[in-house]
Amino acid sequence: MDPVNLKKLDSNHFAFECIKDLIGKPPTDGTQRLRKAADQFSDVLPLKINEIELGRGGFGTVYAGTYEGNNVAVKKIPIALMNHHETEDQKREVEEHIRLDHENVIKLLHFEEDKDVKYRYLVLELCAGTLTDYCDGNNYNGPELPPNGIVLYQIASGLHYIHSKKLVHRDVKPDNILVSITTPVQMKLSDFGLVKKVSSRGTFSQSKLKGTVNWMAPEMLELLDDDSRDSTPKELPHGTIQSDTFAAGCVFFYFLTGGKHPFGNNVTVPANILQNKPGNLMELVRQLKQQNMQSDDELVFLYNLIGKMIQKELKERMALPDVIKKLVAILPGKFKEVVMPILEDAGYCVSRFHPTDRVLACGVAGKVIYLSTADSSILFSYWKEDEILLQHGKIKEIQPMEWNMDGTQLAAICNSDECDVIVWSYPFIGEILFQMNLPKWMDTIEWNPFRPNVFAIFNRGLSFQFGGKKVFLLSSSPVVHQRKFHFCTIAREKTIGSVKWIAENRLALNLKNSDIEIWEIDESAATAKFVKRLGCEWITDMVWDERTKCLAACSWEGWIKIWPMDSEQPVHTLEVGGICCSLTWLKNFEKTKGKGMDDAARQSPAHFIWPSECI
Ligand code: ADP
Ligand code: MG
Repeated sequence: MDPVNLKKLDSNHFAFECIKDLIGKPPTDGTQRLRKAADQFSDVLPLKINEIELGRGGFGTVYAGTYEGNNVAVKKIPIALMNHHETEDQKREVEEHIRLDHENVIKLLHFEEDKDVKYRYLVLELCAGTLTDYCDGNNYNGPELPPNGIVLYQIASGLHYIHSKKLVHRDVKPDNILVSITTPVQMKLSDFGLVKKVSSRGTFSQSKLKGTVNWMAPEMLELLDDDSRDSTPKELPHGTIQSDTFAAGCVFFYFLTGGKHPFGNNVTVPANILQNKPGNLMELVRQLKQQNMQSDDELVFLYNLIGKMIQKELKERMALPDVIKKLVAILPGKFKEVVMPILEDAGYCVSRFHPTDRVLACGVAGKVIYLSTADSSILFSYWKEDEILLQHGKIKEIQPMEWNMDGTQLAAICNSDECDVIVWSYPFIGEILFQMNLPKWMDTIEWNPFRPNVFAIFNRGLSFQFGGKKVFLLSSSPVVHQRKFHFCTIAREKTIGSVKWIAENRLALNLKNSDIEIWEIDESAATAKFVKRLGCEWITDMVWDERTKCLAACSWEGWIKIWPMDSEQPVHTLEVGGICCSLTWLKNFEKTKGKGMDDAARQSPAHFIWPSECI
């Protein structure tokens, strides 16, 4: 195979390596390489901003745009004319926001400034509109919202997440609550322009009042009254996250009544908040009765809940975690009737979440049951048992059970009188891809993380005591070779401790108090070839990192070693002083440290200083 024309593309071209990889050998499986190529190509797509204005607030204008090939919203903030305080606030908006990651908080994907530092652009996940747009009705073309209880639960969850990150939002209002474009819909807290750090008690210092008067808690409005009389800046009393809860109570009311405020109409609102006169609260009952959506019990519940959230006195105001607990209790679903019978006489039970879908496969007493939910805001205890059951062969007790890399297959081993391996396809739940018999007792399935069809099974035993000396390699793919399921066995003289895939066709085997062995699999010839030995003893765990292409292992003897793919010598040894039982690579250190780190480590692991937070 010789791609003679490849050199016509400059080797520095961003697509060169990807194309070389895609058309290179071995031709077994391209999924992984395609994914890598998609990632690299999307990296070079610049941020584009369209003329379409999505909205405007006090601080910036938000436009539609594209970033890395995806539709996004771009908030354009003029920074050139800002005074010192405003610049600080702006910096805080970005720095605090970029750290947040929750489905009910708008995601900040990226930010940048133009070259003369006039504007800063915040690239945000695109939404369908605000809660104001939804309630007004005129301006809203997004998806329909889930049932009321779920909407309230999502808003409360997003806000609670913000508080749990030791931040106060300070501008909770319908304009700053967005509706996702995806279905099932997620409500998203947005606009971190006034966000501020809080102490562990949920309080914060303030020198100037911030917020929007109609959505300000009474303890804030009181300060505003004082503040306006006296223009000299002074230290104001500490604020509290409980003021966000007050605003959330008003937002709940606004949503349920389709756009009304519990404290009256527009201009009268601040005065009514200060005088503790939620004159519209009864309106909620009237309005919901008209809609005929809520039962009387639910009406009383919502009336009481909002009433408690907008209490004037802080000590009487319900805290957000309690609001969430109350809301969970009214969410749809019947936990006890669904989950309990499954677990009652289960005996051995194994469960594994699907890698991408909201599905949990449970292997219980000889059958596999799926628990699933359409909406990720539903607490796990309310997930539904799936109607479709798997076809079962003659299974007795399911022991290990694992999803493959992309969740298209589920493999299980049943050890009873015999050892059965079964693989089902997904989402065509029920179809058995294959079932076969192996020598008795296997307790570990190791799917190849680079290939959807290939996995290794073996018996690790209890801390090596009863472990096996063979690794069986299986493939559910019907095309690659003749003996399609069990195509190869690696037999060793010592017990096998763990097996990790380190490439599409390479395995690392850790043998009982002995070295790590690297094996190369040739699937089409159905053979495995010993490649090299990494000298070490008494290993407790080993883990592969695909980004840096390094294998790390730890030991009873208290060390961690790191080997690059091509070396027999460790590039790094770390004494940890004491037994080290397991280790894992930090998944998103790329996010915090920048992509350069991975590249540096990959290109020259020997000269790379491994930061302690990597593993
Ligand atoms: P400001 O700090 O100026 O209030 P916001 O972040 O609240 O700015 O954005 C202003 C308006 O832009 C919002 O009220 C909303 O209408 C629109 N908007 C903001 N973010 C998005 C988004 N991610 N998707 C769609 N529209 C958005
Ligand atoms: Mg706003």
